[in-house]
Order: sequence, then structure tokens, then C-alpha cells
Amino acid sequence: MTPVTSFAGQKVALFGLGGSGLATAQALVLGGADVTAWDDNEAARAKASASGVRLADLRSEDWGEFAALVLAPGVPLTHPAPHWSAAKAIAAGVEVIGDIELFCRERAKLAPHAPFIAITGTNGKSTTTALTAHILRSAGMDVQLGGNIGTPILALEPPADHRFHVIECSSFQIDLAPSLNPTVGVLINLSPDHLDRHGTMENYADSKKRLVRQADVAFIGVDDPLCFAIGKELDGDSKGRAEKFVFPVSVRRDLRAGVWLDGTLIRSRTGADRILADLEGVKTLRGAHNAQNAAFATAAVSVWAFGDDVIQKGLSSFPGLAHRMEEVGRIDKAIFVNDSKATNADAAEKALLSFPDIYWILGGKPKEGGIEPLAPLFPKIRKAYLIGASAEDFARTLGDRVPHALCGTLEVAVTAAAADALESDAVEPVVLLSPACASYDQFPNFEVRGDAFRDLVKALVVKYQLT
Ligand code: ADP
Repeated sequence: MTPVTSFAGQKVALFGLGGSGLATAQALVLGGADVTAWDDNEAARAKASASGVRLADLRSEDWGEFAALVLAPGVPLTHPAPHWSAAKAIAAGVEVIGDIELFCRERAKLAPHAPFIAITGTNGKSTTTALTAHILRSAGMDVQLGGNIGTPILALEPPADHRFHVIECSSFQIDLAPSLNPTVGVLINLSPDHLDRHGTMENYADSKKRLVRQADVAFIGVDDPLCFAIGKELDGDSKGRAEKFVFPVSVRRDLRAGVWLDGTLIRSRTGADRILADLEGVKTLRGAHNAQNAAFATAAVSVWAFGDDVIQKGLSSFPGLAHRMEEVGRIDKAIFVNDSKATNADAAEKALLSFPDIYWILGGKPKEGGIEPLAPLFPKIRKAYLIGASAEDFARTLGDRVPHALCGTLEVAVTAAAADALESDAVEPVVLLSPACASYDQFPNFEVRGDAFRDLVKALVVKYQLT
């Protein structure tokens, strides 16, 4: 835990008592702040109360006494409308901040040069963050990994000169962290997302830009037009700085400066020419999207003086993240891949692009637009196995373009797909769960759906071994 000392002896209001809110309340109390916390949800309040957090309905508190409102990132700051707690704070002239801001202030006090890598983007944040941390750990570094992934930032060990913090940041967290100033800032990509919470694409992009603008070194993707524009703007700002600090990253074209992909090689020219790593044969980072994530992770660690062999070792030993094109089993020549995280067509497209002969399990609670945008990839699909509420709708979309079966449940689909894959003439058939749908019609969340798939595959592997 990182005690937050910047509000020692002061009264602080805190709203939002989910996982990170609770950790923040505890970190503030540990650092000597007088915290008054609240959540509209009774169960969250009960949990906080049981762990010793003092609760009071902030609606009836005297806001003139608070030094700050610490808001959980899930609570709207501006759109669609400011949450009532934020409105009260703003009316009383009380600053509204989040846990990452508290961390940054603590870092400034304790160890302003402590290595701090902050990562954001619309897609690939978790993979890039986990891979960056893995490379550093495999190089023997003391690494704290968290933020929007896994452990809340203030539940991690405090910043120290030789300790790396590798932090995934959502745009909501960035909005609440005005002094975010990482050693390395990473902006992977930008596409329309969460517009309900940011109002406009411009606000969303502005929020992401804040993470890289104050970084000592920034890596910015230039393969989408929004990030490209941000990179260009910041490069203009570079002129006022002693050293160049913004470097472009591309997986689509060669760059004169920055980091780019050359076949399977990740090349860098941020000073001298280097080959940071080779993706050849790294099974946990299949696909162009993962090449992009790998380019950013290797770029981020290259700011420190690690040898290329050290970076390669980390990349090659990356175990991958669960539910994101996770290989969960193999029977004979068939591989089974769990991509349950693909809850929309855009994400499923990444997986479909990554394999040649696919036995595709899909369906669930459908998203707008369905799977028609994936039509160009239909020729790669040997057969589709439809589950969940979307089954009939998807069957109509697939029509006579893709052979398909209405399977109802995941269990029926896995059994049927495995049998077909094993009988096929493909060199390496892939049974792929990449649903292109939310899971809520049949499962509580995508993790439970992915775990169910993994268990079914494990059982099949055992059955196959016994026969
Ligand atoms: P995030 O944390 O930003 O949601 P993840 O690393 O968890 O991203 O990946 C989630 C899904 O997003 C993956 O399963 C894949 O379908 C897609 N994805 C991952 N990386 C990228 C990328 N660089 N560009 C586009 N899509 C990606």
C-alpha cells in the first residue's frame, strides 16, 4: 500500500467505494487524512464500513471543510452530467481528483525520478501493460503493475528510486489526474469509444493526450488519424524542449524516427538504430494488433539501458493474458483459443485475422451492427457454431456464406467444433471462441464465459487422451 500523505491532517471527501475507492480511502487514512466516504450503493458502503472506513452521506456534509473530493473513475465527472458529489465539490471550489493524481503527488514527494510508465489507448492497454511489466520483471527489476488492470494503484508498493510502476490508465482516470507526469507515456491508438462519458471525440482525445503531454518520453501510435494528429501537435511542442520527447510508433509503415515493424522485427530509431526484438514464433503475441502492443512495450522499456537480448527474453517468455487469444489446449493438430474478451465485432476481427482455418464459436447478447462488418473474413471460417441470444440473427447474416450450426450452449458448440476440427484437412485448425457479443445472456461476464470454455476444453483433452 502507498500511504497518501499529501492530505495529512486535512478533511477529504471520497465518493465511490468499489475496489479502487476502498484502497484509496485506506491509503488516505494511512497517510493521516480525515476521510469521509460515501457510495450510492448500500453493499459497497457495508463493505467499506466493515474495513473501517468512516461513512457519511456527503449530501449533508459541509463542503467548505473539505480539501478535496477524491472520485472513483467510474463516477461521471462531466458527461452525461456531473455526479452530484462532483457538482457539490465544484460549487464549493473544492478540487476533484482521483487515485492516480494522489499517486503522482506522492511520487513527487518521495521519489520524483522513480521510473513510472503510464499506458493508455482505446485497445490493447492491458496487454501492453502486462507485457511491459513482464519484460521488466524478467530483467530482474522490482515492478509494480496495476491501475486500470488488476491492483488499484494505491494498493501497490510506494514509489522508490529503483522500483518501476507500470500503470494502465483509462481516460476517466486521466481526467482526474492533472499532474500525471510519467517517465514514459504510451498512447497506443484511438477510436470512438466511451463517448457517452466524454461527450465528444475531441474531449476523449484531449483526455488521452494529457497522459503523453507531460511525459519525459512519449510513444504515440501513428496508424490511426486521431493519434497521428496528437503526435504531430506534441512534436510541435517538442521544439521548446531541450531534447526530443515524442516518438511515433507504427506497425504499418517504416518510420525515419521512432519504432516500427519490419516483418517480424521491431525496429527502433530513437537515437541509434536498434532491433528491439523479433516476434517470430512468439505464440502469445499473435496478430497485427499484438505486434502493435509488443512494439509499444519494447519501446517503453528501451528508454532504460536494457540489452536487446534482455528485451527479447522478456518478449519470448510472455505468458499472455487470459481471455485474449489465449491458447487453452491442443488435441492432435487442433488448437483451442479463448478470446472471450472479444465482446464486439471489432475485437473479434483481430482474432479472425490471426488464424487461417477457423471453427468459430460466437454469439451471446448482440451489439449494434452485429457481425456483418466481419464479412470480408468469412472465407477463413470453416464453420460457425452459434450460441446465445444472437444465434438466429447471426445465422441470417452468415446465410449461405458460411456453414453454421445452431448450438444453443457453449458446451454443445465446443463438442461439435472440436469434432469437426479434428476431422478436417487443415494443417492447424483453430477452435476459436471469439463471441463478438456480450456474455450477459448466458454468463455473468466475459471472464466466466472464458473460464467455462477453458474447462470444457480441458475435459475434452483428458477424454481424448483416454481414448
Ligand atoms: P484493453 O485493456 O485496452 O481493453 P486488451 O489488451 O485487454 O485491451 O485487449 C482487448 C481486446 O482488444 C483483445 O482481445 C483484442 O481483440 C483487441 N486488441 C488488443 N490490442 C489491440 C490493438 N493494439 N489494436 C486493436 N485492438 C486490440
